[in-house]
Amino acid sequence: MASADTTIAQSINGHGGGAEIAVENPATGEVIAHVADLSAERVAELARIGRAAQVGWQALGFDARARVMKRMQKWVMDNADRLVETIVSETGKTYEDAFMAEINYTGGAIAYWAKHAEKFLADEKVRATTLAVLGKKLVTRYEALGLIGVIGPWNYPLTNSFGDCIPALLAGNSVILKPSEITPLTSLLLAEGLAQSGLPDGVFQVATGRGETGAALVDEVDMVMFTGSTETGRKVMARAAQTLTPVALELGGKDPMIVLSDADLERAANLAVYYSMLNGGQTCISIERVYVEEPVYDAFVQKVVDKVGVLRQGQSTGPATAEVGAVTFPKQLEIIEEHVRDALAKGARALTGGRRRPGKGMFYEPTVLVDVDHSMKAMTEETFGPTLPIMKVADAEQALELANDSPYGLGGAVFGERQRAERLARRMHAGAVCVNDALLNYVAVELPMGGWKASGLGTRHGAAGIRKFTKQQSIFISRVHLRNDVYMFPYRPAVSKALFRGVRLFYGRGKR
Ligand code: NDP
Repeated sequence: MASADTTIAQSINGHGGGAEIAVENPATGEVIAHVADLSAERVAELARIGRAAQVGWQALGFDARARVMKRMQKWVMDNADRLVETIVSETGKTYEDAFMAEINYTGGAIAYWAKHAEKFLADEKVRATTLAVLGKKLVTRYEALGLIGVIGPWNYPLTNSFGDCIPALLAGNSVILKPSEITPLTSLLLAEGLAQSGLPDGVFQVATGRGETGAALVDEVDMVMFTGSTETGRKVMARAAQTLTPVALELGGKDPMIVLSDADLERAANLAVYYSMLNGGQTCISIERVYVEEPVYDAFVQKVVDKVGVLRQGQSTGPATAEVGAVTFPKQLEIIEEHVRDALAKGARALTGGRRRPGKGMFYEPTVLVDVDHSMKAMTEETFGPTLPIMKVADAEQALELANDSPYGLGGAVFGERQRAERLARRMHAGAVCVNDALLNYVAVELPMGGWKASGLGTRHGAAGIRKFTKQQSIFISRVHLRNDVYMFPYRPAVSKALFRGVRLFYGRGKR
C-alpha cells in the first residue's frame, strides 16, 4: 500500500488522529472503541482508491470473484463468535438476534449470490418480433456500475449494510460502506475478513463517520444503496439528484398483521410476540401493529400477554441469556416513550411494560397496548421498539382498510384459513406480505423484497437485487442486410405504398 493509503486505512480504524467518534455499548453505557470521523476530503480519497481498484476486480471475472466471496463465507462462519460479540457489544442486541438474523443471513446471502451472480448478469438474447427488426440479433447485457456507496443503519450492522455489499461486489463493483456512526465496528471487522479472504486492496472500504460522511459519499459514487429512515432517504435522493446518481432506498415501515377468526391463534400469537420483539423491535420489516377480528380478539390478546410476560430482558452475555435486548439508538428510546405516552393519554392501556426499564443501559420494557386506534402515533408512526399495539376490528374488510391506512408499505402478514388469508394478502398495500408467517421472507434471498409508498425504491434480493448494481446495455446486431434498407432515402411512391400496405397487413391482424 502507498503511504497515503496507509494513513487512510489507519484513520478508518481509529488510529490516524483527527476527529473521532466514541462507540458505546447500549446495554452497559460503556465506551468500547473510537473510530475516525471521516471528512468529505477523505471520502473523496477513498473514492479514488476504490475506482482504481475496481478495474482489476471486474477483470477477474465471475469465477474468481465468487471464489473470494466463498472464502469470505467461510471466514464469517469461522469467525462467527467474534462477529456476534462485536455486533452484540455495539447494538446491545441478544446473541440469538445477532446469530440468526445476521450471521445466518450472511451465510445464505453469500452462498446465493456467489452461485447466481453470473447467471443473473449473463447476456440475454431478446427475440425480435417488431416488423422493422425481424431477423436482427438483439442482446441485453449488464456491466458493473463502478463504485457503489452503501449507507447502512444501526439495527443490523451486518445484514442491512454488508448484505447489499455482497451482490454489489460480485457484480464487479468496488464498494465504500458507510455504517451508522453508532455501530461501525462490525463493518471494520468485515473489511478485515474480506482482506483475509483475498479481496484486492481498495475494492471494499469502510468510511466511518456521521451523517455528513454519508452525504459526502453520495457525491462520489456511481450508485447509492441506502437503508434507514424515510426522512434521511429523501435527503439522500435529493442530493443524488444533483449528480443524477441512481439510488435504491430501503426505508421505514409500520407493518400490519391481520388475525382472522379462523387463524391458528397459538401460532399467530407466537409469531406476533416473536416478530414484534425480535431485535428489541428494531427491525424495519416486522410486526408493528395488529388487527384482530372481534370473535378471537380476547383469546388472542390473552395469549400474547402471557407470552410477553415471561420474556427475559437485559444484557445478553451469551446464548439464551435474554430474549429482548437493548434499544440501540439513544434517540429511539425517546421516540418509544413518546409513542406509548401519546397512546396512554388518548385512552390506550398497557397490559405489559409501558415504561423505560430502570437501571443501567438503554432498555424499554416489552409493551402490549390495547384499546388503540389510528389517532395514536403507536399505530401510525414507526416506533422501532419492543411494543405491540393490538386493535379489535369488526371484520376482515375493516382490518384491511386500517392496514392500508398508512404512508408506509414495507411488509405485512395475514393469519387465517390459507385461501382466505391469501386473498386478503394480495389486497394489502405492501411490497412483501406473508400468509401465516412473518418477516421470514427477508431471508429468502431468492424472493425480491422492496417497499411500496414511503417505504422505499427498488428491490433487494432475486435477480433485480444484483442487476441494480449494474448498467444495462442493449446490443443490436444486423446479420443479413441490403446495402440500403428499403425504407431509407430516397423515398419513392411505389416503395412507400408497398411499405404502408405491409405495415397495415402485419399489424392489422390484431383483434378488434
Ligand atoms: P438515518 O436514516 O438517519 O441513518 C441511516 C444512515 O444514513 C446512517 O449511516 C446515517 O449516519 C446516514 N445518514 C444520516 N444523514 C445522512 C445524510 N444527510 N446523507 C447520507 N447519509 C446520512 O437513521 P437513524 O439512525 O437516524 O434512525 C432514524 C429512524 O430511522 C429510526 O428511528 C427508525 O425509525 C428508522 N430506521 C429504519 C431502518 C430500516 O431498516 N428501514 C433502520 C434504522 C432506522 P449516522 O448514523 O452516522 O447519522
